[in-house]
Amino acid sequence: MEKLSNPQVTIETIKKYDFAFQKKFGQNFLIDGHVIHKILAAAEVTGEDFVLEIGPGIGTMTQYLAEAAREVVAVEIDKMLIPILQDTLQGYDNVTIMNEDILKVDIRALAEEKNGGKPIKVVANLPYYITTPIIMGLFENHVPLYNMTVMVQKEVAGRMQAAPGTKEYGALSLAVQYYADTYIAANVPPNCFIPRPKVGSAVIRLNAWQQPPVSVEDEKFMFSLIRASFNQRRKTLQNSLVNGGIAVTKEQIAQALAEMNLPVSVRGESLTLEQFARLSNLLKS
Ligand code: SAM
Repeated sequence: MEKLSNPQVTIETIKKYDFAFQKKFGQNFLIDGHVIHKILAAAEVTGEDFVLEIGPGIGTMTQYLAEAAREVVAVEIDKMLIPILQDTLQGYDNVTIMNEDILKVDIRALAEEKNGGKPIKVVANLPYYITTPIIMGLFENHVPLYNMTVMVQKEVAGRMQAAPGTKEYGALSLAVQYYADTYIAANVPPNCFIPRPKVGSAVIRLNAWQQPPVSVEDEKFMFSLIRASFNQRRKTLQNSLVNGGIAVTKEQIAQALAEMNLPVSVRGESLTLEQFARLSNLLKS
């Protein structure tokens, strides 16, 4: 059977089931086999792997994953897609389709059950409206991860890789860089999807660090500092932390900044991950 990455096959499948695209679920289906090959190559999927696919749609990438991996679990929220997936994936006996909201799935338990707790690979053409909660959920819940290779909005991929002092730099950049090494595997134009998204897309691979690149005594506290700094990014770091409800005084912050040789007028947006880690450790002690 011709694969769904052939646009004609996708169009016929959609017609056959009278499927109506749901904007609220961020549905833009891939119709380009080259892009799918690039995603699988970046994820380095092998016959040993257990792969979690988030949002399989009609199963376009799932068909390729099923051929490359040992086992695939595909989590799809839209119940209208389930009979279609059962049809398009019927030739594969190593795929499980789950009709769930990925944000409500206990992925750690799934990794334990399906992969004996060993690191898993996550592959997805993500629904863009929940890119950040999905990625942060995987990291913060300490899901055993080898890597995550995901299609995101191009601008979001830029934010994940951004350096201090740039407009794109923010809480997402710091969080992603704390947990993973990033690499852009492909830039993907709107004509590779049905329907075409209004924005450009990029495939980004996040390789989870074995050890975090900085040492932090209290991760949660560091991220609360980061969030507070970027919630009021035009203010000084000192003011945004105090206004942001962090339980420290202006004097304590001033003292920590002095120890770090930073001016008291410094803004959070110019601090590196190492500096946030140091600040967090100093304020905790
Ligand atoms: N993987 C398919 C492809 O590349 O053609 C579809 C990608 S489409 C950008 C995103 C998919 O995620 C859609 O099928 C959508 O229904 C699904 N989705 C949206 N929100 C979801 C959620 N909270 N949990 C699971 N799947 C979700």
